[in-house]
Amino acid sequence: MDRIVARDLVVFANHGVFPEEKTLGQKFLIDIDLGLDCQEAAIKEDLTKSVHYGDLAHGVKKVFTDKSHDLIESASEEVAQYILRTYPLVNEVRLRVKKPWAPVGLDLDTVYIEIKRKRHRALISLGSNMGDKKSNLDKAISLIEDDYTKIKKKSSYYETKAWGKEDQDDFLNAGVEISTFYTPHNLLAHLQGIENTMGRVRKEARGPRNIDIDIILIDDLVINTQRLSLPHPYMRERAFVLEPLKEIAPKYVDPISHKTIEQLLRDLNSN
Ligand code: AMP
Repeated sequence: MDRIVARDLVVFANHGVFPEEKTLGQKFLIDIDLGLDCQEAAIKEDLTKSVHYGDLAHGVKKVFTDKSHDLIESASEEVAQYILRTYPLVNEVRLRVKKPWAPVGLDLDTVYIEIKRKRHRALISLGSNMGDKKSNLDKAISLIEDDYTKIKKKSSYYETKAWGKEDQDDFLNAGVEISTFYTPHNLLAHLQGIENTMGRVRKEARGPRNIDIDIILIDDLVINTQRLSLPHPYMRERAFVLEPLKEIAPKYVDPISHKTIEQLLRDLNSN
């Protein structure tokens, strides 16, 4: 990945938890580091295929000064999201926001925070087998879109037999492809928030539920934490997951088996 870096943009703003910081304001220094591919811009000598760093600096200054935040974390997050939204060519943003002479009553040169945000491609699987299944899926899918997340593709709805615990109503399943600026764990939190908002009903493991939302893949990430496993550990065994995803992303490669979604489904159906 190529990088465009702008260092020490000086911005006067009113962020901080202390009242003086809000009323008097202070100087911040911002380093902006963008990851993108600028070879096409180079070959065609075309600035529209790259990022105009003058516009970038002015835009960042505006977003950073428009609102007063208690936390520079929040101010930085807004700037990172602004850059990803405004510049579709940018895949990754690293920001360092420095507060020189932070007012802590000590001789402290600089304090800074650094964040890295990325544009992620992800595949999500949804299912419902209680109540009005179609409207449950419609509602969940509409709630997935927010400031951080856009739906790129949506599959048809598939009626499937319950898996794992068969003495229950059939499911309606769907898959969506999204583009999101959430980190993987915050994407999970966002989706669990939707399940909670919809009053997720679940009496037993693998039992009936009004809505279930799982993350199947994010980019080519392999993650195994207590809260999140990626790729989803059961995706290769579940036709109800693979079938809808094959419709919208047949060539997406599972980073563990190195097989595409359509190959995984073919393997599963031939067993
Ligand atoms: P379930 O509702 O049966 O899908 O399971 C939800 C639990 O699985 C939650 O505790 C999540 O933290 C955990 N989990 C682990 N990996 C994933 C994933 N890829 N997508 C959704 N939930 C996950």
